[in-house]
Amino acid sequence: MSSWKALFMMFLTTAWAGSMQAQSEDDLLCAEKERLMLRLQGRANSGTAHGYDIDYYRCHWQVNPKNGPYLKGQVLARFQVLKSVDSIGIDFVAGMQIDSVKQGAQHLAYERNGDALYVKKTGSWSPGWDSVEVFYQGNPSNSGGFGSYAWDRHMTGPVIHTLSQPYGAKYWWPCKQTLHDKIDSIDIYVYTDTGMKAGSNGLLVEQWVQNDTQAVYHWKHRYPVATYLVAMAISNYAEYTQYAHWSRSQDSMPMLNYVFPQFRTQSQIETRECLYMLRIFDSLFTEYPFKKEKYGHAQFTWGGGMEHQTMSFMVNFSFDLMAHELAHMWFGDMVTCGSWQDLWLNEGFATYLNAIALENMRGVDAFELHMRGLRFQVCSQDGGSVFPKDTLNVSNLFSGRLTYRKAAWVLHMLRDQLGDEAFFQACRDYLQAPDNAYGFGYTPEFQAALERASGRNLDTFIQTWYYGEGFPYLNIEWKQRGKRMTLQIDQQPSHPSVSLFYIPIPLKFIGKNADTLLRVYPDQLSQQFLLELPFAVDSVVFDPHIRVLAKATVKGQNLDALQAEPFAVLPNPAADQAALVSKSGRLLSAQAYNAVGQLVWEAEPADLGSVQVDLPLSNWAAGPYWIRVSDENFVSCVKLIKKP
Ligand SMILES: [Zn+2]
Repeated sequence: MSSWKALFMMFLTTAWAGSMQAQSEDDLLCAEKERLMLRLQGRANSGTAHGYDIDYYRCHWQVNPKNGPYLKGQVLARFQVLKSVDSIGIDFVAGMQIDSVKQGAQHLAYERNGDALYVKKTGSWSPGWDSVEVFYQGNPSNSGGFGSYAWDRHMTGPVIHTLSQPYGAKYWWPCKQTLHDKIDSIDIYVYTDTGMKAGSNGLLVEQWVQNDTQAVYHWKHRYPVATYLVAMAISNYAEYTQYAHWSRSQDSMPMLNYVFPQFRTQSQIETRECLYMLRIFDSLFTEYPFKKEKYGHAQFTWGGGMEHQTMSFMVNFSFDLMAHELAHMWFGDMVTCGSWQDLWLNEGFATYLNAIALENMRGVDAFELHMRGLRFQVCSQDGGSVFPKDTLNVSNLFSGRLTYRKAAWVLHMLRDQLGDEAFFQACRDYLQAPDNAYGFGYTPEFQAALERASGRNLDTFIQTWYYGEGFPYLNIEWKQRGKRMTLQIDQQPSHPSVSLFYIPIPLKFIGKNADTLLRVYPDQLSQQFLLELPFAVDSVVFDPHIRVLAKATVKGQNLDALQAEPFAVLPNPAADQAALVSKSGRLLSAQAYNAVGQLVWEAEPADLGSVQVDLPLSNWAAGPYWIRVSDENFVSCVKLIKKP
């Protein structure tokens, strides 16, 4: 999901559709956090004992956004009981009314305990296949206007949309709400007003009108899906289909768009870019994971996007939002984070794939500019790890700065340090591993895939950049004399959890007619490097291609350029006051001699150590003087004229 992304939309001159209500980043984050806090509380109170492995749902949902949020539902669950239990548990909020629970025509007894529904059977549920069907209705909770089930209006019509991540599914449908058991397949029937269209997961296999007033949409999804990725959106949508063509085959796949009618013309131009994104991700990673069905968008009024499996819900169709939600089809939907501590494997990847889409479609400059922007935001505070120390703390868990942007930067550095070939191979291996594909993924599995592909041990990297907080501050000083370049690199970690960041330092050395890009690899907090460069350097740029998460200052100079005149007396001639100045380093010694060679003044040790020292001219007779002076780099003589 992406709410903070909405901020980027406002910076884009072309993408913002214009009439949706603009919100600030803070508003969006607050809204998201408020909503998630409710979900987290919901989870903390629940702890339903399920007692089965879920296989299939058939859902009938009757809604009419013209009349209000009211939902009448009928959900059939088919599952495998693993061992004998007295009752099977279903997550469903207490506020929704249950009309009956049945198996076939037979009514089953049930008990409600908070947000858990326990269904009983004569005797016990014995191991094997079984099913129940829950009939229910009510106004699903929409606390604070950001519930998992929202009834809202856009400019030309009403809309109902759901957004269950992470713990909101039970607010509107009876389900097994967990991150450990995907639903193997699902059929969704939405009954609504004939003026409305209903979007959902998978393929629209049938649609018809009954009794002249009710439109029925039957969506069928035959890929495993996490409960929080099941969704529906109903509005007076305009509809159009575009086709994605793959780079590895002649096939194509429909991309189905349900958009608010007032945005249709503009959306149709904007979503075209998503076809290229599909092709890029499909060729770089694994093939699009739901190829036999579709990808699609349904517009909604929440201030961001949500990666519902095969149909992302979108506030608009900005480049960044489309890329982010599409990326989730691989990282989030096909492979779902196995715990909320692994959320960076959803959100960090989605954020980084947004940058990769820019790299491939807008060019390297746009990519680097984007990564620079992310780095600026990550480094705006000294602390914070990608690993969320407290997943019940929503600010920590869904931190845009850490779980999204710093995580994207961690991926970016892995790619840089391991090389494209190993990095993308590791991503493919992680996505395709039998335990991960269409299942769940964990950080150690991703690390293992990276290590296999690169042959490198990444314990230190993961310890530093995933568990550790902060980033390095770097102080880089250079000086060149002849071909000899001396580099002094000092590192100060921004947070005490990391004693030293082992990072490459890319430096571009620029001269009048030549330049070169080199990397040095410090393994100490303070380290000097000696290089040979065949040309005179005028300036040095840190990390020109934006590959290192660090804040750096660079200073230095070419000593050869100062050779002729490394010191100066200012002013010269002078009457009462003048200063002796070194142009290249700290002064080490200075003595003044008159025209007949007598020593008239010598700098005290206390006066030295900086680049400048005052000359006490008032006691000196008028005439010429010679000042012998040395600094870290030069020894020389400067002539001074003392005026009468
Ligand atoms: Zn996301």
